[in-house]
Amino acid sequence: MGIAKRVQDSLYSTMQAAAIALEPMKSHTHTPAAKTPRAATATASPAMVASGWLHTARFLTTAPELHFLPALEVPEIAFVGRSNAGKSTCINTLTQQKQLAFASRKPGRTQHINLFSLGKQGVTDAVLTDLPGYGYAAVPKQDKIRWQQVMANYLVTRENLRGIVLLCDPRLGLTELDEVLLDIVRPRVEQGLQFLLLLTKADKLTRVEGHKALSIARLQAGGGHAMLFSATKRQGIDDVSQLLWQWAHPPGGPAEGSAPTTDGEPSAHHDASTPQATEDARPA
Ligand code: GDP
Repeated sequence: MGIAKRVQDSLYSTMQAAAIALEPMKSHTHTPAAKTPRAATATASPAMVASGWLHTARFLTTAPELHFLPALEVPEIAFVGRSNAGKSTCINTLTQQKQLAFASRKPGRTQHINLFSLGKQGVTDAVLTDLPGYGYAAVPKQDKIRWQQVMANYLVTRENLRGIVLLCDPRLGLTELDEVLLDIVRPRVEQGLQFLLLLTKADKLTRVEGHKALSIARLQAGGGHAMLFSATKRQGIDDVSQLLWQWAHPPGGPAEGSAPTTDGEPSAHHDASTPQATEDARPA
């Protein structure tokens, strides 16, 4: 029996218990003061507002285990993916900070859950969560299984979780462990949890390969989004930034802003130098 199957079996009972405790994705409480000031954003493009918001990312806390995570009410967006998928680079690129997610760390070594606050003027209106990369070959099997469990528990029980970004190197495709996480996440996506399957290192693909990978990813993402991303070529940055901004500032919520209001549609600010479609045009 493969690792994934064993993990899945051992998780189902936990998940079922946790699912009972979960309400369907209810509207989250926002910090009223976090509302984006209209005056300040009146002339800024949606991409600029989203980018400025992400740039406010600052370290909040780190937790070696799930139960050490603080309970939060602001929307939380989790980044998950196998080691070496490009997760740290992606977080650093989106937040325009060189060291925030420690891109240079040794794959699989940093096993903590790291939380970063987002929000202008020091007022936190959302949190980014960097979950440990999984599947690193040199990590003992037991550790891999333990981390699958931690992650699955997080994805199922974290009440303020608003969206998940699953990063995948399209040259490798979804691994068995990615598939397990997708299976775990799918019921919550059906209940309204936002989901993005982000294909990293898109610069390594030809245009045709990129289109093909995106088509497959759209199917795999179910009701979620799929996008191509390249830190090297700066492809997809605006679209991902705006999508995350929208997740954290849903229409009708107290933190609803005057900026990235693309109604879930792709940005009109596609970089002409990256003609590949970066986004699945379906709304979330
Ligand atoms: P993590 O383990 O998922 O955090 O992955 P890292 O962010 O540390 O990246 C793993 C490797 O992929 C590093 O060598 C990065 O330089 C490389 N990488 C990350 N993003 C890109 C990208 O957009 N294009 C290319 N060509 N390489 C990338």
